[in-house]
Amino acid sequence: MSVTVRVPAKVNVQLAVGAARPDGFHELANVFLAVGLYDEVTATPSPDGLRITCDGPDAAQVPLDRTNLAARAALALAERYGRTPDVHLHITKDIPVAGGMAGGSADGAAALLACDALWGTGAGREELLDICAELGSDVPFSLVGGAALGTGRGEKLTELEVGGTFHWVFVTATRGLSTPAVFREFDRLAEGRDIPDPVASQPLLDALAEGDPDALAATVTNDLQPAALSLFPELTDTLAAGRAAGALAALVSGSGPTTAFLARDEQAAEKIAAELRPLATSRTARTAPGPVPGATVL
Ligand code: ATP
Repeated sequence: MSVTVRVPAKVNVQLAVGAARPDGFHELANVFLAVGLYDEVTATPSPDGLRITCDGPDAAQVPLDRTNLAARAALALAERYGRTPDVHLHITKDIPVAGGMAGGSADGAAALLACDALWGTGAGREELLDICAELGSDVPFSLVGGAALGTGRGEKLTELEVGGTFHWVFVTATRGLSTPAVFREFDRLAEGRDIPDPVASQPLLDALAEGDPDALAATVTNDLQPAALSLFPELTDTLAAGRAAGALAALVSGSGPTTAFLARDEQAAEKIAAELRPLATSRTARTAPGPVPGATVL
Protein backbone atom coordinates (compact mmCIF):
# COMPACT_ATOMS: atom_id res chain seq x y z
CA MET A 1 0.00 0.00 0.00
CA SER A 2 1.22 3.52 -0.72
CA VAL A 3 -0.17 7.07 -0.55
CA THR A 4 0.71 9.84 -3.03
CA VAL A 5 0.16 13.52 -2.27
CA ARG A 6 0.37 16.28 -4.86
CA VAL A 7 1.44 19.71 -3.56
CA PRO A 8 1.75 23.10 -5.30
CA ALA A 9 4.44 25.80 -5.31
CA LYS A 10 3.64 29.32 -4.13
CA VAL A 11 4.26 32.88 -5.19
CA ASN A 12 4.11 35.80 -2.78
CA VAL A 13 2.00 38.57 -4.29
CA GLN A 14 2.87 40.69 -1.27
CA LEU A 15 5.91 40.13 0.92
CA ALA A 16 6.17 42.89 3.54
CA VAL A 17 9.16 42.48 5.85
CA GLY A 18 9.50 44.12 9.25
CA ALA A 19 12.62 44.64 11.34
CA ALA A 20 14.53 41.59 12.63
CA ARG A 21 13.07 40.27 15.93
CA PRO A 22 15.24 39.33 18.93
CA ASP A 23 14.91 35.64 17.84
CA GLY A 24 16.42 36.56 14.44
CA PHE A 25 13.17 36.00 12.52
CA HIS A 26 11.44 38.90 10.78
CA GLU A 27 7.86 39.89 11.33
CA LEU A 28 6.12 39.40 7.95
CA ALA A 29 2.88 40.19 6.17
CA ASN A 30 2.86 37.64 3.40
CA VAL A 31 0.14 37.18 0.82
CA PHE A 32 0.58 33.70 -0.62
CA LEU A 33 -0.95 32.35 -3.80
CA ALA A 34 -0.63 28.62 -4.58
CA VAL A 35 0.31 28.09 -8.24
CA GLY A 36 0.10 25.09 -10.54
CA LEU A 37 3.68 23.77 -10.43
CA TYR A 38 3.69 20.58 -8.40
CA ASP A 39 5.80 18.10 -6.48
CA GLU A 40 4.46 14.66 -5.57
CA VAL A 41 5.43 12.73 -2.46
CA THR A 42 4.69 8.99 -2.25
CA ALA A 43 4.83 7.29 1.14
CA THR A 44 5.31 3.49 1.21
CA PRO A 45 5.98 1.27 4.26
CA SER A 46 9.71 0.55 4.53
CA PRO A 47 11.00 -2.36 6.63
CA ASP A 48 14.46 -0.78 6.98
CA GLY A 49 13.36 2.59 8.45
CA LEU A 50 13.07 6.10 7.04
CA ARG A 51 14.37 6.43 3.47
CA ILE A 52 14.15 9.39 1.05
CA THR A 53 14.55 9.21 -2.72
CA CYS A 54 13.97 11.92 -5.31
CA ASP A 55 13.74 12.26 -9.07
CA GLY A 56 13.24 15.22 -11.40
CA PRO A 57 15.49 17.78 -13.12
CA ASP A 58 16.73 19.35 -9.82
CA ALA A 59 16.95 16.06 -7.87
CA ALA A 60 20.74 16.29 -7.43
CA GLN A 61 20.30 19.41 -5.25
CA VAL A 62 17.81 17.78 -2.87
CA PRO A 63 19.25 16.39 0.40
CA LEU A 64 18.31 12.73 0.98
CA ASP A 65 19.11 12.71 4.70
CA ARG A 66 17.11 13.80 7.74
CA THR A 67 17.52 17.49 6.87
CA ASN A 68 15.02 16.99 4.03
CA LEU A 69 11.77 18.67 5.11
CA ALA A 70 9.82 15.58 4.02
CA ALA A 71 11.92 13.46 6.41
CA ARG A 72 11.51 16.00 9.22
CA ALA A 73 7.73 15.95 8.71
CA ALA A 74 7.58 12.13 8.93
CA LEU A 75 9.78 12.15 12.06
CA ALA A 76 7.66 14.85 13.73
CA LEU A 77 4.42 12.94 13.07
CA ALA A 78 5.92 9.59 14.18
CA GLU A 79 7.16 11.16 17.40
CA ARG A 80 3.74 12.65 18.24
CA TYR A 81 2.04 9.30 17.70
CA GLY A 82 4.74 7.19 19.34
CA ARG A 83 5.52 5.08 16.29
CA THR A 84 8.68 4.23 14.38
CA PRO A 85 9.03 6.19 11.11
CA ASP A 86 9.30 3.09 8.91
CA VAL A 87 8.50 4.84 5.65
CA HIS A 88 10.01 5.33 2.22
CA LEU A 89 9.24 8.81 0.89
CA HIS A 90 9.75 9.29 -2.83
CA ILE A 91 9.71 12.89 -4.05
CA THR A 92 8.92 13.61 -7.70
CA LYS A 93 10.36 17.11 -7.85
CA ASP A 94 9.06 19.63 -10.36
CA ILE A 95 9.18 22.78 -8.16
CA PRO A 96 12.49 24.62 -8.67
CA VAL A 97 14.95 24.01 -5.78
CA ALA A 98 16.13 27.08 -3.82
CA GLY A 99 13.92 29.16 -6.10
CA GLY A 100 11.82 31.10 -3.59
CA MET A 101 8.76 28.97 -4.43
CA ALA A 102 8.66 26.98 -1.16
CA GLY A 103 9.53 23.65 -2.77
CA GLY A 104 11.04 22.17 0.40
CA SER A 105 8.09 23.41 2.46
CA ALA A 106 5.72 21.85 -0.08
CA ASP A 107 7.42 18.46 0.35
CA GLY A 108 7.18 18.81 4.14
CA ALA A 109 3.42 19.39 3.97
CA ALA A 110 2.97 16.60 1.41
CA ALA A 111 4.97 14.08 3.44
CA LEU A 112 2.99 14.95 6.56
CA LEU A 113 -0.33 14.38 4.80
CA ALA A 114 0.93 11.19 3.11
CA CYS A 115 2.26 9.66 6.37
CA ASP A 116 -0.90 10.69 8.19
CA ALA A 117 -3.00 8.80 5.63
CA LEU A 118 -0.60 5.80 5.48
CA TRP A 119 -0.44 5.42 9.26
CA GLY A 120 -4.09 6.29 9.88
CA THR A 121 -3.08 8.57 12.76
CA GLY A 122 -6.40 10.45 12.62
CA ALA A 123 -4.67 13.77 13.33
CA GLY A 124 -7.06 16.66 12.76
CA ARG A 125 -6.38 19.57 10.45
CA GLU A 126 -5.40 21.87 13.36
CA GLU A 127 -2.86 19.37 14.62
CA LEU A 128 -1.37 18.92 11.15
CA LEU A 129 -1.15 22.72 10.80
CA ASP A 130 0.61 22.88 14.18
CA ILE A 131 3.26 20.39 13.04
CA CYS A 132 3.62 22.32 9.76
CA ALA A 133 4.30 25.56 11.67
CA GLU A 134 7.02 23.80 13.70
CA LEU A 135 8.67 22.63 10.48
CA GLY A 136 8.90 26.07 8.85
CA SER A 137 7.17 29.37 8.14
CA ASP A 138 5.95 28.43 4.65
CA VAL A 139 4.86 24.85 5.44
CA PRO A 140 1.31 25.58 6.73
CA PHE A 141 0.44 27.41 3.52
CA SER A 142 1.58 24.44 1.40
CA LEU A 143 -1.01 22.33 3.23
CA VAL A 144 -3.81 24.90 2.88
CA GLY A 145 -3.17 26.22 -0.67
CA GLY A 146 -5.49 28.67 -2.43
CA ALA A 147 -4.62 32.15 -1.21
CA ALA A 148 -3.84 33.26 2.32
CA LEU A 149 -2.38 36.06 4.39
CA GLY A 150 0.47 34.89 6.61
CA THR A 151 1.49 36.96 9.62
CA GLY A 152 3.94 36.38 12.47
CA ARG A 153 6.93 34.87 10.66
CA GLY A 154 4.45 33.94 7.91
CA GLU A 155 2.96 30.86 9.60
CA LYS A 156 -0.26 32.35 11.07
CA LEU A 157 -2.70 32.01 8.19
CA THR A 158 -5.96 33.68 7.25
CA GLU A 159 -7.50 32.21 4.11
CA LEU A 160 -8.44 34.73 1.40
CA GLU A 161 -11.19 34.79 -1.20
CA VAL A 162 -10.02 35.06 -4.82
CA GLY A 163 -12.44 36.09 -7.57
CA GLY A 164 -10.75 34.44 -10.56
CA THR A 165 -7.68 32.66 -11.91
CA PHE A 166 -4.45 34.61 -12.47
CA HIS A 167 -1.98 33.49 -15.13
CA TRP A 168 1.73 33.52 -14.30
CA VAL A 169 5.07 32.85 -15.90
CA PHE A 170 7.94 31.66 -13.69
CA VAL A 171 11.52 31.97 -14.88
CA THR A 172 14.05 29.87 -12.98
CA ALA A 173 17.60 31.16 -12.80
CA THR A 174 20.91 29.58 -13.67
CA ARG A 175 21.96 29.56 -10.00
CA GLY A 176 20.15 29.54 -6.62
CA LEU A 177 19.89 32.07 -3.78
CA SER A 178 19.81 31.07 -0.12
CA THR A 179 16.82 32.47 1.79
CA PRO A 180 18.88 33.29 4.95
CA ALA A 181 21.46 35.11 2.80
CA VAL A 182 18.71 37.25 1.24
CA PHE A 183 17.35 38.16 4.71
CA ARG A 184 20.90 39.06 5.83
CA GLU A 185 21.23 41.32 2.78
CA PHE A 186 17.81 42.84 3.62
CA ASP A 187 19.14 43.63 7.14
CA ARG A 188 22.35 45.10 5.70
CA LEU A 189 20.42 47.35 3.27
CA ALA A 190 18.01 48.36 6.08
CA GLU A 191 20.77 49.40 8.51
CA GLY A 192 20.13 52.82 10.04
CA ARG A 193 16.63 53.04 8.48
CA ASP A 194 13.29 52.88 10.26
CA ILE A 195 11.44 49.72 9.14
CA PRO A 196 7.64 50.09 9.39
CA ASP A 197 5.55 47.22 10.80
CA PRO A 198 4.48 44.96 7.94
CA VAL A 199 0.78 45.15 7.04
CA ALA A 200 -1.27 43.58 4.27
CA SER A 201 -2.23 45.98 1.48
CA GLN A 202 -6.01 46.44 1.30
CA PRO A 203 -5.95 47.39 -2.44
CA LEU A 204 -4.06 44.15 -3.11
CA LEU A 205 -6.59 42.06 -1.12
CA ASP A 206 -9.39 43.80 -3.07
CA ALA A 207 -7.64 43.02 -6.39
CA LEU A 208 -7.45 39.32 -5.42
CA ALA A 209 -11.10 39.26 -4.33
CA GLU A 210 -12.12 40.82 -7.65
CA GLY A 211 -9.87 38.54 -9.71
CA ASP A 212 -8.64 41.64 -11.55
CA PRO A 213 -5.14 41.16 -13.07
CA ASP A 214 -4.57 44.89 -13.79
CA ALA A 215 -5.40 45.85 -10.21
CA LEU A 216 -3.24 43.01 -8.87
CA ALA A 217 -0.36 44.10 -11.12
CA ALA A 218 -0.60 47.63 -9.71
CA THR A 219 -0.40 46.40 -6.10
CA VAL A 220 2.09 43.47 -5.98
CA THR A 221 5.18 44.17 -3.84
CA ASN A 222 8.16 42.25 -2.52
CA ASP A 223 10.32 43.89 0.16
CA LEU A 224 12.98 41.21 -0.38
CA GLN A 225 13.38 42.17 -4.05
CA PRO A 226 16.10 44.85 -3.54
CA ALA A 227 18.12 42.37 -1.45
CA ALA A 228 17.70 39.57 -4.04
CA LEU A 229 18.69 41.95 -6.87
CA SER A 230 21.69 43.18 -4.89
CA LEU A 231 22.95 39.55 -4.61
CA PHE A 232 21.89 38.62 -8.17
CA PRO A 233 21.99 41.83 -10.31
CA GLU A 234 21.35 40.00 -13.61
CA LEU A 235 17.75 39.41 -12.48
CA THR A 236 17.08 43.11 -13.21
CA ASP A 237 17.45 42.31 -16.93
CA THR A 238 15.10 39.32 -16.64
CA LEU A 239 12.44 41.52 -15.01
CA ALA A 240 12.84 44.18 -17.73
CA ALA A 241 12.61 41.54 -20.49
CA GLY A 242 9.35 40.26 -18.99
CA ARG A 243 7.84 43.74 -18.92
CA ALA A 244 8.94 44.28 -22.54
CA ALA A 245 7.25 40.97 -23.47
CA GLY A 246 3.94 42.28 -22.14
CA ALA A 247 3.85 41.17 -18.49
CA LEU A 248 1.46 43.29 -16.40
CA ALA A 249 3.82 42.92 -13.43
CA ALA A 250 7.32 41.51 -12.95
CA LEU A 251 8.74 40.62 -9.56
CA VAL A 252 11.18 38.40 -7.75
CA SER A 253 9.33 35.40 -6.28
CA GLY A 254 9.85 35.35 -2.49
CA SER A 255 13.57 35.39 -1.76
CA GLY A 256 14.30 34.57 -5.42
CA PRO A 257 16.01 33.93 -7.70
CA THR A 258 12.91 32.72 -9.55
CA THR A 259 11.16 35.68 -11.20
CA ALA A 260 7.37 35.86 -11.55
CA PHE A 261 5.42 37.59 -14.32
CA LEU A 262 1.69 38.25 -14.22
CA ALA A 263 -0.01 37.92 -17.61
CA ARG A 264 -3.44 39.12 -18.73
CA ASP A 265 -4.55 35.61 -19.73
CA GLU A 266 -3.25 32.14 -20.53
CA GLN A 267 -2.34 33.02 -24.12
CA ALA A 268 -0.36 36.09 -23.04
CA ALA A 269 1.45 33.92 -20.45
CA GLU A 270 2.50 31.44 -23.18
CA LYS A 271 3.82 34.31 -25.33
CA ILE A 272 5.82 35.84 -22.44
CA ALA A 273 7.27 32.43 -21.53
CA ALA A 274 8.35 31.86 -25.15
CA GLU A 275 10.14 35.25 -25.19
CA LEU A 276 11.87 34.73 -21.83
CA ARG A 277 13.01 31.13 -22.38
CA PRO A 278 16.07 32.00 -24.55
CA LEU A 279 17.49 34.60 -22.08
CA ALA A 280 21.01 33.87 -20.81
CA THR A 281 19.81 34.22 -17.21
CA SER A 282 16.88 31.79 -17.69
CA ARG A 283 17.04 28.08 -17.06
CA THR A 284 13.34 27.47 -17.67
CA ALA A 285 10.25 29.64 -18.27
CA ARG A 286 7.00 27.95 -17.30
CA THR A 287 3.39 29.03 -17.12
CA ALA A 288 1.11 28.24 -14.17
CA PRO A 289 -2.33 29.37 -13.00
CA GLY A 290 -3.16 30.37 -9.42
CA PRO A 291 -4.83 29.93 -7.04
CA VAL A 292 -4.88 26.12 -6.93
CA PRO A 293 -5.71 23.81 -3.96
CA GLY A 294 -3.05 22.86 -1.39
CA ALA A 295 -1.62 19.41 -0.63
CA THR A 296 -4.07 16.74 -1.85
CA VAL A 297 -4.07 12.95 -1.54
CA LEU A 298 -4.31 11.49 -5.07
P1 ATP B 1 11.36 29.26 0.32
O1 ATP B 1 10.61 29.79 -0.85
O2 ATP B 1 10.47 28.54 1.32
O3 ATP B 1 12.30 30.21 0.94
P2 ATP B 1 13.00 27.91 -1.59
O4 ATP B 1 11.97 27.51 -2.58
O5 ATP B 1 13.84 29.09 -1.89
O6 ATP B 1 12.30 28.06 -0.18
P3 ATP B 1 13.72 25.17 -1.29
O7 ATP B 1 13.59 24.57 -2.65
O8 ATP B 1 12.65 24.91 -0.32
O9 ATP B 1 13.99 26.72 -1.39
O10 ATP B 1 15.11 24.66 -0.74
C1 ATP B 1 15.98 25.38 0.07
C2 ATP B 1 17.03 24.38 0.62
O11 ATP B 1 16.37 23.49 1.51
C3 ATP B 1 17.66 23.50 -0.43
O12 ATP B 1 18.82 24.06 -0.94
C4 ATP B 1 17.92 22.19 0.30
O13 ATP B 1 19.23 22.16 0.83
C5 ATP B 1 16.96 22.19 1.48
N1 ATP B 1 15.84 21.21 1.39
C6 ATP B 1 15.36 20.49 2.41
N2 ATP B 1 14.35 19.71 2.03
C7 ATP B 1 14.16 19.91 0.73
C8 ATP B 1 13.23 19.38 -0.21
N3 ATP B 1 12.33 18.46 0.09
N4 ATP B 1 13.29 19.86 -1.46
C9 ATP B 1 14.21 20.80 -1.78
N5 ATP B 1 15.13 21.31 -0.94
C10 ATP B 1 15.10 20.88 0.32
